Amino acid sequence: MSRTGIYPGSFDPIHKGHIDIINRATKLVDKLYIAVADSPHKSPLFDLDERKEMIENEFSSNNKIEVIAFDNLLIDLANSLDAKILIRGLRVVSDFEYEFQMLGMNRQLDNNIETVFLMADAQRQSISSNFVKEIARLGGNISNFTNKFVEQKLKDKFKLIK
Ligand code: ADP
Repeated sequence: MSRTGIYPGSFDPIHKGHIDIINRATKLVDKLYIAVADSPHKSPLFDLDERKEMIENEFSSNNKIEVIAFDNLLIDLANSLDAKILIRGLRVVSDFEYEFQMLGMNRQLDNNIETVFLMADAQRQSISSNFVKEIARLGGNISNFTNKFVEQKLKDKFKLIK
């Protein structure tokens, strides 16, 4: 039986916490869709194509992974891809309450999709896209938090914005 997973998020931008979770998730599934949410309410720094490109660049050699964009209901997307495993990462205790509620609601929408929570390595658990962006905006060193490609994209973005 082939297992298909889906890992949704804003990925604005992808960082080493996400990468850690994706590498762990690929051990559990045969195919992993990384689903980049449009998230206009979060006013993302990078548009959908830029966020997709940064993820594709990191995983170009992994043929298990496909990056897609979405703006519809996650459960509908998962069903259309026949993805029965929903991957989420847990960082801090405060993630738990939101994730707990989301799982409960998703389960009422579709009880055939199981959510699997994964944790990144200890040094990567505290990384968040918001902090990576803030440090980059202020000219700090983000090399521990994301890859070179994203680092350059952030530099270019803030040069344009300033
Ligand atoms: P969202 O907009 O859903 O918060 P993110 O792009 O921030 O999307 O995160 C996508 C998923 O990755 C979520 O499940 C989130 O909890 C998880 N995640 C983000 N950062 C980390 C991290 N440092 N360690 C583990 N999981 C993480």
